[in-house]
Amino acid sequence: MSASTDAAGESTKKPASKSKYDYSKGPAPLNINLAWCKACNICIALCPQQVFEPDKDGKPEMARVENCTQCTICWIHCPDFAIISNYK
Ligand code: SF4
Ligand code: SF4
Repeated sequence: MSASTDAAGESTKKPASKSKYDYSKGPAPLNINLAWCKACNICIALCPQQVFEPDKDGKPEMARVENCTQCTICWIHCPDFAIISNYK
């Protein structure tokens, strides 16, 4: 009874990735230098796509890689220059 298509008639089963990048075909969106990271949490807090989760030391792990839009917010705000993009 319930519809499995959206209003446009397209399947709704495809995961809702927020990014135009397909990271399954290339490098990870970011490189995080954990030796430089001091676990300040800024990147985790500011990422609008909730890409990061803190690891056991409070340092960012890319838990939702597919959501990264390369918006630049995390690497321009990292005070320790620990994040670089592999795409920009
Ligand atoms: S903003 Fe930089 S120093 Fe702070 S947690 Fe993120 S990667 Fe580490
Ligand atoms: S580039 Fe933007 S979307 Fe990607 S992890 Fe950094 S803050 Fe999040």
